[in-house]
Amino acid sequence: MTWTPPDQDALRRPEFLDWDIWPFEGEQRIKQLAPRNLPEPPRHGEPGGGPCEPCAASDEAYVWADDAWRLKAVGPSGLPVVLVLEPRAHLDLGDLSDEEAAELGRLTVRVERAVVSLGDIARVHVMRLGDGGAHLHVWFLGRPAGMLQLRGSSASLWDDILPPVPEPAWRANLARVAAAMVQRGGHALVR
Ligand SMILES: [Zn+2]
Repeated sequence: MTWTPPDQDALRRPEFLDWDIWPFEGEQRIKQLAPRNLPEPPRHGEPGGGPCEPCAASDEAYVWADDAWRLKAVGPSGLPVVLVLEPRAHLDLGDLSDEEAAELGRLTVRVERAVVSLGDIARVHVMRLGDGGAHLHVWFLGRPAGMLQLRGSSASLWDDILPPVPEPAWRANLARVAAAMVQRGGHALVR
């Protein structure tokens, strides 16, 4: 496949500017489409892209871990809990064996249930993007119940707009997530 970038005047005004979940008001201007950058610059954890943060991090930086996977928290930020699941080994999504992929699926469900167990969470958004770092990291965003403006793709924007959750409440949320995770194995690393 060969992909051809469009001309600037072919860009469209996206419908999401009118959605009730879009956090911004007023006229929005589309940026100039930047030229292609090939080959792409290396990501963190690729040769020339700088050190791999997950590979260098000790377990103390995490909320929960087992022999092959670790779960860390990002924040405190506007959402009650934002978590990142990573394999211990330096692997990206496409590198996982069938067994590792199956474990990722099981753990994804476990993390979802652990976040929902906090209460007052309507949905856990699960995202894998991977444009910044080469080491697989899957995001989990807990969306507060009833906050319909935070639905869907806008939750990660609102996470930076809402004031950060107070640190003690955030740490309490992490401890409860760790306690829920450890019921099915692994080690809780926060209390
Ligand atoms: Zn790594």
